[in-house]
Amino acid sequence: THFGFKQVDAQDKESMVADVFHNVAAKYDIMNDVMSLGIHRIWKRFTIDSAGARKGQQVLDLAGGTGDLTAKFSRIVGPTGRVTLSDINPSMLEVGKDKLRDMGLVQNIDYVEANAEELPFPDNQFDIVTMAFGLRNVTNKSKALASIYRVLKPGGRLLVLEFSKPTSEGLSKIYDAYSFHLLPKMGKLVANDEESYRYLAESIRMHPDQETLKSMMEDVGFENTTYTNMTGGIVALHKGYKF
Ligand code: SAM
Repeated sequence: THFGFKQVDAQDKESMVADVFHNVAAKYDIMNDVMSLGIHRIWKRFTIDSAGARKGQQVLDLAGGTGDLTAKFSRIVGPTGRVTLSDINPSMLEVGKDKLRDMGLVQNIDYVEANAEELPFPDNQFDIVTMAFGLRNVTNKSKALASIYRVLKPGGRLLVLEFSKPTSEGLSKIYDAYSFHLLPKMGKLVANDEESYRYLAESIRMHPDQETLKSMMEDVGFENTTYTNMTGGIVALHKGYKF
């Protein structure tokens, strides 16, 4: 298979994304550490710190996969709060559920299989929604953003952690070489899956840049939108509020 985006329609993209994450689920955590040299942990830590979650709050970790953010939120919101780990992919959710249970996190986490474009939650339910490295996989991103807006409480916030556009030409070149050449080879070596990691590189290249994503959030109603570049813009954390 070839995962070139230009040739695929929406239906194909959805089943392709499903295949990719089904294939990588078992090795997902180790690959994250290998590919990012452990730096994804810093990006996620910054996301948690920026979320400003408090005891008793309701958090939705959307496209939450194997639950790295869920684990941290679960401890912060405590027994009176609730964290919903939601993902479209049952294989990723299963790996996440096993991992969180092994960590002893059982009392305040729900697991919900769902498409970000059509969230199965009532209006105004969550104080915080996070989406880490998930939005670029979604076929209709504006639809997903509108759906997130709907389930947030007034005063609630969305945090989108996602690959973005490197701020310097030099870094951009190094990064392209890394993601289009080294990354698929590492995928082959560690997970015996070159294609999935080729998809990853392509999906990163196609994803809207910082200002575009900010406007997309504003278009569906988010206010006070900001973003913070990390690692030279390789990754950005976008934040927006529903008032
Ligand atoms: N948030 C986790 C993290 O940062 O480690 C997992 C990120 S993983 C790169 C992307 C996740 O997005 C996958 O688990 C995938 O199944 C999920 N995903 C893809 N399309 C989705 C959609 N339309 N709705 C919800 N989740 C989706």
